[in-house]
Amino acid sequence: MPQREMPLPTVLDPRGRTFGREEREAVLRVLDSGVLCGAFGQETRSLETEMAALYGRAEAVSCSSGTAALHLAVAATGAGPGDEVVTTPISDFGTVAPVLAQGARVVFADVRADDGNLDPDAVEAAVTPRTKAVIAVHLFGGAADTVRLREICDRHGLTLIEDCAQAWFGEDPAGRLLGTLGDIACFSLQQYKHITAGDGGLTLTDDPELARRMRLFMDKGWDRTEGRIHRTMGLNYRMTELVAAVARAQLTRLPGVVARRRATAGQLAEALTGIDGVRLAAREPLTGHAWWVVPLLVDDNVRWAKGLEALGVPALPGYLERPLYANPALSGYAPGLCPRAERLIDRTLLVLPWNEGYSEGDVDRVARALGKVATA
Ligand SMILES: *Cc1c(COP(=O)(O)O)cnc(C)c1O
Repeated sequence: MPQREMPLPTVLDPRGRTFGREEREAVLRVLDSGVLCGAFGQETRSLETEMAALYGRAEAVSCSSGTAALHLAVAATGAGPGDEVVTTPISDFGTVAPVLAQGARVVFADVRADDGNLDPDAVEAAVTPRTKAVIAVHLFGGAADTVRLREICDRHGLTLIEDCAQAWFGEDPAGRLLGTLGDIACFSLQQYKHITAGDGGLTLTDDPELARRMRLFMDKGWDRTEGRIHRTMGLNYRMTELVAAVARAQLTRLPGVVARRRATAGQLAEALTGIDGVRLAAREPLTGHAWWVVPLLVDDNVRWAKGLEALGVPALPGYLERPLYANPALSGYAPGLCPRAERLIDRTLLVLPWNEGYSEGDVDRVARALGKVATA
């Protein structure tokens, strides 16, 4: 029997996360202060200031999850019954749930076959007089075509929302930070993301009116500087002080986290050039990719996933089991609506979980396993 190898680090394992002394001290600092609610402490306000500064945007608004961040953004556009929001069928449910919550309709545009990001031509074709916004997801950490999507949104008077939940510190081909290209950008601090506080969310914008609406929606429509008056509809999407304090520590680790992911993903990319039948599901230039996971293209994703799993290398065929529109929570969408998305999910897309804890040896092991499955 070969000796059993140590499992690869995962995001549910301290080896695959970056919690250290600073996070531990952050938790104790908040407990010792006696104030755990974000409405009354300094941690959430400080996190917002630090996030806005890191990205060079005027305002950041904290909230309780990435889904909440997207809900703040969608609500700030004013989208409601009779309105439409265009987005991708390949994303987390949190991208579309806020649109449904506002009573607006999700219009799905197909994706590009080579990286799974929104196809700008399909977005353009999906725009109607009822469209309010486009949500561009930077899938797996690779940039959506924000240049063309920006141009389409400007021409039609639409709000461009970037969903950066998988793309912390990613860049577009011109080297601009993802999250600085839309009217609003949304981030998640959920356990599986680049940095985490368990759950949590942030939005960014340069528009003071959008920021004001998002801040009100996050806290029951209540501007606490003017008394107990509810100016707008709002929910309780507040981030807690404990989450904010941990997120502040995590934010300082972000450049290192993304640099390590780029180094190991680059090593794998190199190895892939010698393996038949598999390539990256990512567009050149790869330098700005944030590598939330490593997405691959193969001919039969189920065969590859099974082969890799048998060698101790986790792999997800298709990322999703079905496009978002094929879930029972949504109705009125026909199968075949977005054929390129369906083919990626059913046949060609293979996702390798990835994190900053991967060593050179771990990447070698993944590459060897891919080589074996390629020739099996
Ligand atoms: C994780 C994720 C979300 C939702 O974030 P939560 O914090 O889990 O609510 C939204 N969009 C994308 C692309 C995601 O990956």
